[in-house]
Amino acid sequence: MKVLRTPIVAVLGHVDHGKTTLLDRIRRSNVTAREAGGITQHIGATEIPLSAIKEICKDIWNVNVVIPGLLFIDTPGHKAFTNLRRRGGALADLAILIVDINEGFKPQTEEALMILKTFKTPFIVAANKIDKIPGWQSNEGMPFMKSYAMQDEVVRQRLDNRIYELIGELYQRGFSADRFDRIRDFTRNVAIVPISALTGEGIPELLMLLVGLAQRYLEKSLRLHVEGKARGTVLEVKEEKGLGLTFDAILYDGTLRVGDRIAIGGVEGVIVTHVRGILRPRPAKEMRLESRFKSVESVTAAAGIKVVAPDIEGVLAGSEFEVVESDEDIKAFEQRIKQEYQEIAIETDEEGVVIKTDTLGSLEALINEFRELGIPIKKADVGDITKKDVVEASANRDELNRVIIGFNVKLLPGVEEEAAKYGVRIFTDQIIYSLIDNFTQWRDEEKRLRERQKIESIIMPGKIQLLKNYIFRRSKPAVVGVKVLAGELRKDVKLIKPDGTPAGVVRSMQKSGENISVAREGDEIAIAIDGVTIGRQLEGDEVLYVDVPERHAKVVERELMETLSENARSAFREFLDIKRKDNPFWGK
Ligand code: GDP
Repeated sequence: MKVLRTPIVAVLGHVDHGKTTLLDRIRRSNVTAREAGGITQHIGATEIPLSAIKEICKDIWNVNVVIPGLLFIDTPGHKAFTNLRRRGGALADLAILIVDINEGFKPQTEEALMILKTFKTPFIVAANKIDKIPGWQSNEGMPFMKSYAMQDEVVRQRLDNRIYELIGELYQRGFSADRFDRIRDFTRNVAIVPISALTGEGIPELLMLLVGLAQRYLEKSLRLHVEGKARGTVLEVKEEKGLGLTFDAILYDGTLRVGDRIAIGGVEGVIVTHVRGILRPRPAKEMRLESRFKSVESVTAAAGIKVVAPDIEGVLAGSEFEVVESDEDIKAFEQRIKQEYQEIAIETDEEGVVIKTDTLGSLEALINEFRELGIPIKKADVGDITKKDVVEASANRDELNRVIIGFNVKLLPGVEEEAAKYGVRIFTDQIIYSLIDNFTQWRDEEKRLRERQKIESIIMPGKIQLLKNYIFRRSKPAVVGVKVLAGELRKDVKLIKPDGTPAGVVRSMQKSGENISVAREGDEIAIAIDGVTIGRQLEGDEVLYVDVPERHAKVVERELMETLSENARSAFREFLDIKRKDNPFWGK
């Protein structure tokens, strides 16, 4: 029989929505739970064994469980989440997306959701701070359903309304969600669990659902089986007194032993070394001993450990490592790391923006988001912004793509000047959401501006009626009252009659005695027309059209029809019919 390993859980959410408080609360669960199974502190993580979860959930326990417990990553937030990767995705098997129920969705909630989508990580929404709902009577550590049943009708209504808002927010982003007790199929619907990280209400259900979700989702995909080969992800490299350089890591597969040879991957290449020691935190009661750590011979996934190993100066946080037994193993590992890097870092489209980020995880998330928005990417890579990036961005034909997007990266010296010189825009931010927002806002504004410029330089269609009772002068120039029936009339445009013959040039226009340069649909104005005499070429009661030049007519027909009013559109069609009577290909 295959042994299931402990699922790894991460907590994500907007700042101040309660990530740290929730982790603390789970870590410091009630004494009986601690005694029941010993909640154990790992390096960078906390393990809640099944017996402790059962104790916390004892009033409501109804699942048949085969996983050994849950391992919570101690560092909350999406940065940690994207940083901690493993083969083919995120390190965490499951996530809790925490949302302050009184505040609803915020930028980082949005961002966390996007990241969870990118990594296809199953998650539960914890609607936190229910104790702050006006009128809520807190019941320390109680299951939500029980505490909910004890609240006033109006208070329950308040909570329900907020849950509905959350369901709406999630729906808008493509997730079907509901309060957990109304869900049958947890693989299709996102469960929302109302909790208070402060009073512990709802935490029993949250933990129980996580366990259930882990089993249903992950057992099938085999992600939870302990496999032979030890694999893990580096949290950080640290100097420890008396030990030298060590690295903290989460082991997610297999069993790691002292003496194992390991390969560690990074952007810079692969380092091969061996495990000199494996350390775990010493339980609090043994603290009188000199070291905070105790040495172990081996450890089985999932676990947070400190590894003592030589030659690890070049190891980066977020790198993967793996036990290697032969040179072939090392080659295969190198190949895989390289391939994974190449799969993410791209240099493809001829035309497109340049993206730079701090980690592979955030790069993947950004690329995903840009693809969804339909924005072309010329190059996407990990690292600070260099002059070379500026040159590449500037080589775009379309100004809208002469852009560098930087997430959590620096501009190297001289980059700013270079960008100014080449007309390259640089957007940087520490929040993916606002980075994308600022960029798309700029892009949309820029597009609108262009449209406007185009419209302004194009002669647009127009149709006017001469008013026979307002003939002020018959020639040189003829001055006559007109009504704009459709479209617009500008100074200096030529006019034609419905039979296609020329009817002069508009030299000036007056509305209520003032000179104007453009008249719009419905306006009644006086115009001066050069090149015609009323009584000869014109009677003075005709309908006339603006003689849109062929090149302009082409642009109007292809690109600007949407911008025209209903009347202007039909006037333009009449105009095209006039022009195409003799030449069917005119303006095509
Ligand atoms: P983080 O930034 O997401 O880690 O948020 P914190 O855990 O630091 O919480 C931010 C603030 O909200 C702190 O002052 C917490 O005490 C408070 N807080 C967190 N959870 C709750 C809760 O369930 N109820 C109440 N009333 N306050 C909470």
